Amino acid sequence: MDEEKLIPISALQHFVFCPRQCALIHIERLWTENYWTAQGRVLHQRTDEGTPEQRANLRVERSVPVVSNALGIHGVLDVMEIDTIENTFMPVEYKRGKPKLNNCDKVQLCAQALCLEEMRSVNINRAAIWYWQVRKRSWIDLDENLRNETKNVIRQLKEMFAFQLNPAPIYDKRCLSCSLIDDCQPQALQKDFSERYVRNIYRL
Ligand code: SF4
Repeated sequence: MDEEKLIPISALQHFVFCPRQCALIHIERLWTENYWTAQGRVLHQRTDEGTPEQRANLRVERSVPVVSNALGIHGVLDVMEIDTIENTFMPVEYKRGKPKLNNCDKVQLCAQALCLEEMRSVNINRAAIWYWQVRKRSWIDLDENLRNETKNVIRQLKEMFAFQLNPAPIYDKRCLSCSLIDDCQPQALQKDFSERYVRNIYRL
C-alpha cells in the first residue's frame, strides 16, 4: 500500500486519548510541545539511540519500522525483543508517565504487535510497556478484546481521515495535560458548540 495512505500508529494512541487531539495533530498538522511532551521526546531519543544487542538468546533491536498492509497502518517500534531460540518477537514501548486508566497505550502496542504478526507470520500473545515514572515494565495481554478495540479504532480513524473530520472539543481533565490546549480552545469552543446545539433544538 502507498505509504501516504497508511495511518501512523501514533494516531491510534492520540485518538483513544482524545479524537480531537488526533485530528489536530494528524489532519490539521498542529503540534505544540509542553513539559510532558518534551520529556517524552527526550526519553524516546535515548531509547532510539543504541545499536542492537544480543544477550544470550535475547536480541534487542531499536527503532524498528513496521507496517500492516492488511490493516493500513505503519509505525516504528521503540524496541523489538527477539528470542532467537524460540523465534518469538515482542514489541516494547517506552512511555514517560505511568500506566493509564484508558487504553491508549495498550491500543498503540497492540497495533504494533499486529504489524509484526503480519510481517513475520507469527503470533504474539503479550507485549510490554516500560513506564519511566514508575520505572516498571507492564505486561499487556494481546487478547481478543484488545485486538477488536484496536481494529475498531483503525476503522474510525480511516473514516476520520477520509472525511477530514475534526470532532468538537470536550473540556475535561485530559485537557490539563494536553499540549494543544491553546490551539484547541476547548472551553470557548465547547460553549460555542453547546449554544449552537440549543439554538438548533429550539430554532432560535
Ligand atoms: S485540549 Fe482537550 S479537547 Fe482539545 S485536543 Fe486537547 S484533550 Fe482534546
